[in-house]
Amino acid sequence: MQIKLIFQFLIVFIHQLLLSPMTLTQDSGSGFITNCSKPGIVVLTFDDGSGQYTNSLLQLKKLKLHFFVLGTSVEQYPEILNKIFKERHQIGVHTYTHPHLNDLTYEQQKEEIVKANDAIYKIIGVIPNYMRPPFGECDDECGKLMKSLDLIITQWTIDFYDWHYQAASYQEGRTKTLNNILGYLSLSNPKIDSFILLQHYFYKYSVDIVPEIVEAFEKKGYTFETVAECLVESYKNKNEDGKMTKK
Ligand SMILES: [Zn+2]
Repeated sequence: MQIKLIFQFLIVFIHQLLLSPMTLTQDSGSGFITNCSKPGIVVLTFDDGSGQYTNSLLQLKKLKLHFFVLGTSVEQYPEILNKIFKERHQIGVHTYTHPHLNDLTYEQQKEEIVKANDAIYKIIGVIPNYMRPPFGECDDECGKLMKSLDLIITQWTIDFYDWHYQAASYQEGRTKTLNNILGYLSLSNPKIDSFILLQHYFYKYSVDIVPEIVEAFEKKGYTFETVAECLVESYKNKNEDGKMTKK
């Protein structure tokens, strides 16, 4: 019996090891989220936009997506933020100018969030509960600041690496990004794993593969949820819409 347990432990350990390389570049700490509180859940998150391809994402009616937006970008495309909000997708803050937060002072870090939240608030009248640090960089001090601002730091389980192919052709970007994620999916087990997926919504090839990704994950037994739903057990008191009214 004990040998069987050790064997099962080893299988889970090797499994997690195989899934781990895409998580090495992000900071972690108390209150940082990298996956859901229960297995079998997948969340699609999109960083950095808005942009011309957002509309095709919003046409995927059955899905609720999570957008981590930049202050500069929502000022440039207020109507897109409005549309995202009205269609009840979730919105998180991704800073104002996309800096390396760990290189900034406490006051500069705070300004990056406050300025972005002010821009968001001006358009939709609420500010987010969730934040994602640019480049996944947010050290202990930064983490404490985000906590004091009542923000849940939402990292990712798997980065699609879609940004890696921005200089490649559309077809190469599409094929390689899709293969990255399907490769990880093939190693996964919905009885053990959950995923917060990281994509960017200004690469057409990355946006175009979403229906294929959804089909592949659903076929394997995963269910698509929002970040709020994926964390609902550990954050029972949070508003399920993932947004809160400004104090
Ligand atoms: Zn970013």
